[in-house]
Order: sequence, then structure tokens, then C-alpha cells
Amino acid sequence: MFAEIHIERGRIRAVLPNTEATVIRNETETWTVPGGHVLPGFVDNHAHIVGLGRRLTLLSLHDATSLEDCLDRIRTASTLGGWVQAMGWNQELWGVPTLPTTADLDRVRSDVPVMATRVDGHAMWCNSAALALAGISARESVLIDDDMTPVWSVVPKPTAEELEVMILAATEECARVGITEVHDMDVDVDWLEPMRLLAESGRLPVRVQSFVRAHNGQWRDWGLLPAGGEFLRICGVKLYADGALGSRGALLRHPYADAPDTYGLELLSIESIVQECRLALDAGWWSIAIHAIGDAAVRNVLDAYTVVRSWPDGGDVLLRIEHAQHVSPDDVLRMHDLHVFACVQPTHCLSDAPMAERRLGQERLADAYRWQSLISAGVRLGAGSDFPIEPPSPLAGIDAFVRRMPYGSSSTWCGDERISRLDAIRAFTSWAHATADMDHRRGTIAVGMDADLVILDRDILTCSDEELRDTCVLATFTAGKRRYPA
Ligand SMILES: [Zn+2]
Repeated sequence: MFAEIHIERGRIRAVLPNTEATVIRNETETWTVPGGHVLPGFVDNHAHIVGLGRRLTLLSLHDATSLEDCLDRIRTASTLGGWVQAMGWNQELWGVPTLPTTADLDRVRSDVPVMATRVDGHAMWCNSAALALAGISARESVLIDDDMTPVWSVVPKPTAEELEVMILAATEECARVGITEVHDMDVDVDWLEPMRLLAESGRLPVRVQSFVRAHNGQWRDWGLLPAGGEFLRICGVKLYADGALGSRGALLRHPYADAPDTYGLELLSIESIVQECRLALDAGWWSIAIHAIGDAAVRNVLDAYTVVRSWPDGGDVLLRIEHAQHVSPDDVLRMHDLHVFACVQPTHCLSDAPMAERRLGQERLADAYRWQSLISAGVRLGAGSDFPIEPPSPLAGIDAFVRRMPYGSSSTWCGDERISRLDAIRAFTSWAHATADMDHRRGTIAVGMDADLVILDRDILTCSDEELRDTCVLATFTAGKRRYPA
């Protein structure tokens, strides 16, 4: 819509009609955008800020098209803290989708330790020098999920200055694509101090809701508790019920179609999830986010959440399932009944479609990457990108929700689960704010609401499908201040 919006101290004071432009007026400037359509600023409700910062500053293998391509880049890579640190490889893009080996890396780099994480972050490819430092004896295959822990514990941690550079690079990229708030997942205690300093000095261009690491009880070891602020709010804990589908770590109720002896990995039992939730509530946390991708993992989490809801103090805790990629029909209904948020990433569907067909087989695809069936059942949905796994653009996410057309394909995939444009926009705005209990402050353009706004070059509710893809962000305002263009 076109509008003239007046802002005072970061909040909307007036919304006046305008027929041809969007005008934003705060205490210091009047910003007129002819033809610019204003929407509430986008939320990415599941992402990794430092991960994107790493991607923008470390060696990226995201667009490598073969094993040799990866090795060429690693051969000449510079080191950070004495290691070659790379990320983003995806064997599915290599023509021959075979997992890489330790020997491959030793062939090009034996002088320094090398570690390279897979695009989904759930697998790590190391050379012998890295494995030796981590105390792992000779091993050819990549490390998956918990097996990566010994390597992570010896990879040099970035300094506070390096973290600040990463956080600024990532959040400025967010503002560029129209994001005004990020739900930052798996946050490490070391990241909070540079984040807080940026927030309190007014240099953080987007708001951050932090969900701290809880899978191994880290928040307790660190002594972290929930804490609130306008730009940085430490609001929840993050657990993992299973791994990812690509590395066959997602926990399925029936075996993998392309590996009939495997069900995936149960990273936490139902009892452990219940116990972790109890500890979190006792410490005052209001929000629990649990990664669950496979249908058995989703069921485990819902079994645990059923217990939480039965507690006298468990009625209004925010319970989230992150990804919720594969959900049995009866569990869709349970998600609604238990008031559990589905925090989904529409662009994952576009990247995963061919792989998901192999892993799950045709019959199970009806339960995969559900969107419309969740909404129809009354489940509350919020959306994100899981950057740096996918690019951070919410407009790409809205396009994925609406067209559901896998990358490199020109036809819709399992089209019954597409959703309307209005719902797609809500999933990235008001509904996403609801998943952090902030929808009373943000996500709609009205007097008294926070002035978190994005201005686009067209009306994405009425433009054609083709135009949707080419939409540009003209400006992003967080708390009434222009954050993009800077
Ligand atoms: Zn994630």
C-alpha cells in the first residue's frame, strides 16, 4: 500500500493516505519513495546470524559444482587461527552425489588442519590433521551431528572483534533484504557480548531475539537467563530432537526409502526433552524452540509438549517446533490442540525437493513441507530462511510459499501445500512476531506499533507471479530509523 507514516521515538504516530508514494517522516528526515509500497518489516524467525557472518567472511563452498571445485578452493585458501575453515559444501550439487572423504582433503591440504561444514550444518568434512587435533583416530567418512563436537571444541573461536565484523556483515545484509527482526538460533554465550554492545550503541540494524544453546545444557553452564531489550532480547532456549534429512539424520517413523536399514538419529529422547523443558521453565524461560525434521522427531516433541502443557505453569509457555518438515496428519491436529508454533523455511523445500523424494519415497511426500494443511488446521505458522543454509531473502521465501517451484524446475511441486500471498506475507510478519510473543508490538502498520517497515518497488499482493520474483527492497526502517540504504 501507499501511505504517509509519521514516526516518533521509534513508534508509528500517524498513518495517512497517499495515492502515489510512500512517505516516512521521523524526527530527522522525510523519506519519500514515489511508487514505493510499504509493508511491516519482515521477520526471519529461524536463522543463524553468526553463521551468515561466517559465510560472508570465511571460505564459501556453497556454489561449488564438484568435489574437484571444492578441493581447488581449499588448496589455495588462507587460514584463520591456523585452520582452513570452510562451509557450505553440498554433494547433491556435484553431479555425482557421493560424500567426500578425509583422503580427498589430505590430497590437497596436509600442511594445516582443514574443516568444512555441509550446507545444512549437520555434517563436517575434515582432513587428517584436523581429526588428529580433535583426538579422532583415522576415519574416512564425514562427521555427522554429535560426532562433530570434538572438532568444534578445537577449532579456534573467533575473537570479539571478528565476531563484531561477522554480526555487522550479517545484520546489514538482513536490512538490505527487508528484514527488521531475526530469531537467532543456537546462540553461543560468546556472541552475546558483541551483540549487546552493537545493540546498545545503536549499530545493530535489525532487532534480534536470541534462542540460546540448550542441547547439552549450555545455558545452565553459562549461567544465562532470559533478559529483555528493544534490539536484543534473550528470549528462549534451543534443543535438537533429530538431525537433517540430507545427511539421513532426520528421525523417521518408517525407514528411509533410499536406506531401508536407517530411521535417522534420535538426538533427545522424549524423557530428556521433558526434563530440559522443566529446567527451562524453572529458570524463567518462556520460549522453547526444538528442531524436529522427521515425523518421528516431531511426534517425540509433541509427546514431550503434551507433558509440558499438563503442568500448572505450562499452559502459556511459547512452544515451537523448528522446521517441522515432515508431519503425520494426526500430529498436525495435535500441533493445533497443543498451541505449538510451526516455524518453517519455505526455501528449504525448493532446495530439498529432489533429495526429499529419494529419502522419503513418493507416498510420504504428502506429509512433507506442509504449509496449507497446517494453516487449515489452525496451526500457527511463522517463517524464516535458516540462513546461511538458504539466502536470507524473505521475498524469496514468499515466492517459495506461493509458487513452490523447486530450483531448476518450471513446475510446482506438491502444489496442494502452496499458500496464499496474504498468508505468505503474514508468515514473514505478524505471524512470525507471534512466535516470539511480539505481535502486539510489531507486524502491523498502525498507530502505536513499532515503526519497523519495509518499502518495496511493487505491490506484492497484486503483481503477477513473474513480477513477484523480481521485487526489490527500496528501504528498510527499524525502530523508525532508516537502516537500508545506509
Ligand atoms: Zn537452523
